Amino acid sequence: MRRPIIAGNWKLNNNAKQALELVTLLKRELSDVSKVDIVVCPVFTVLMEVSDCLIESNIDVGAQDLYWEDSGAFTGEVSAPLIKDTGAKYVIIGHSERRQFFGETNETVNKKIKAALKHGLIPIVCIGEILAEREAGETFNVIKAQCQGSFAGLSSEQMLKLVIAYEPVWAIGTGKTATPEQAQEVHKYIRELLANMFDGETSQELRIQYGGSVKPDNIKDLMAQEDIDGALVGGASLKSDSFVKLVKYYEQ
Ligand code: PEP
Repeated sequence: MRRPIIAGNWKLNNNAKQALELVTLLKRELSDVSKVDIVVCPVFTVLMEVSDCLIESNIDVGAQDLYWEDSGAFTGEVSAPLIKDTGAKYVIIGHSERRQFFGETNETVNKKIKAALKHGLIPIVCIGEILAEREAGETFNVIKAQCQGSFAGLSSEQMLKLVIAYEPVWAIGTGKTATPEQAQEVHKYIRELLANMFDGETSQELRIQYGGSVKPDNIKDLMAQEDIDGALVGGASLKSDSFVKLVKYYEQ
């Protein structure tokens, strides 16, 4: 049985005061949750405060990106050991906003995954097609290229230490969610691909989240799909009431 995982990607939001207010509420409201892994991903500057606040809670912390070198002359970058040092356990890699605005490629995603794994961070690796690719019937080809590039050189054992987030880019922050059937079709395809690239056991055990305008009113039908193991949530993770409702879907 794959354990579901709900992660909140706060993006470029929440200063220290706002972040601490939010996690204080989440900690209280979600303390009895046991059936789902919960992660919040704040900006780098508050990772340590948020991690400290969540010590001994059932909520883990993740960063939103990392650089693959450990240290050196790389002004402005943050490495896996530094993220680990804050108490964070996860790191989002290859988010579509990083691909779109900051030149992230499958090759850089691959280097970042290897750096994260080397230092014991759990990568949440984002893949997904843009609208033009979907409309051109290219979705599966895009997903295949992203998986082959991003996971090149990894072993089955390493794959089982990461989480994949399938996020159709046209559904991120747009209010347009993929239908449960559209999402399931791609999740199933990803599992088939992983079975070919690695093995059947790895493809069945690995967790694949869906991301793209997940809200309390659509989570039920999406998460009911056989190959969907939780959600990567942007907008709805910024308010405690909506994030709590999303997590509590799994506790019913
Ligand atoms: C995201 O940022 O990964 C995301 C899925 O955002 P939203 O839920 O706002 O679409």
